Amino acid sequence: MRTFIVLLGPPGAGKGTQAQIVAETLQLAHISSGDLFRENLKGQTELGKQAQDFINRGELVPDDLTIAMVRDRLQRPDCAQGALLDGFPRTPAQADALTEMLADLDGKVVCVPCINVPSEVLVERLGGRWTCRAQGHVYHQLYNPPKETGKCDIDGSELYQRDDDKPETVANRIRVYLAQTSPLIEYYQKRGLLAEIDGTQEISAVTADLLAAIRKD
Ligand code: ADP
Ligand code: AMP
Repeated sequence: MRTFIVLLGPPGAGKGTQAQIVAETLQLAHISSGDLFRENLKGQTELGKQAQDFINRGELVPDDLTIAMVRDRLQRPDCAQGALLDGFPRTPAQADALTEMLADLDGKVVCVPCINVPSEVLVERLGGRWTCRAQGHVYHQLYNPPKETGKCDIDGSELYQRDDDKPETVANRIRVYLAQTSPLIEYYQKRGLLAEIDGTQEISAVTADLLAAIRKD
């Protein structure tokens, strides 16, 4: 049975930061739907063109496009043991689709950590976020700065500020999370899979809590 972990939490909670560390520790693939969309935007694929306006407005890309993209990604060989999902599912319809997809792949969701961080902290985190062009590694100008300004420690590529990290788009993304994604907290709680994590701690303490929650299952 393949094991899948779903990381829940608002934009800026630290899902990407933690997913990179936890996926490497547990030797699981890290699948970020946001990174998949950004690759499509960069490559100007048909999907990228269809998703672009939604992403720039801080809205969700429609479920059918998102589900098809993730379904495709889960077929790749690096998901043979399972994967850590970061940013997907984001609606109950996506969560239902995930359950169906995993049944076909002899897999299931085993744990859903939800990283909790208050909105005012999210705004500050996203305002100072710098992202690596090559692989989406994330930094923060104050809380997790790169060794060399503007350059990724891991792959040396250029760091940039995402267009959707500007304050008005961030405010909309937080609203969208509360309206459309936060119902997944109850969705997974009812299924006995939710683990609440305090995301206001420093990065290493959040990692420790996440690993403890995942290993309990
Ligand atoms: P998400 O993937 O949930 O949107 P990120 O992992 O990209 O969030 O983190 C958002 C920003 O907050 C980044 O700039 C990151 O460096 C920073 N960050 C992540 N975790 C913490 C933390 N525990 N404390 C302070 N800053 C953090
Ligand atoms: P993220 O990198 O997770 O912050 O996602 C960036 C943007 O990509 C979001 O604001 C959405 O526009 C889009 N996106 C990412 N994942 C999803 C998803 N599961 N469903 C719909 N839209 C998504």
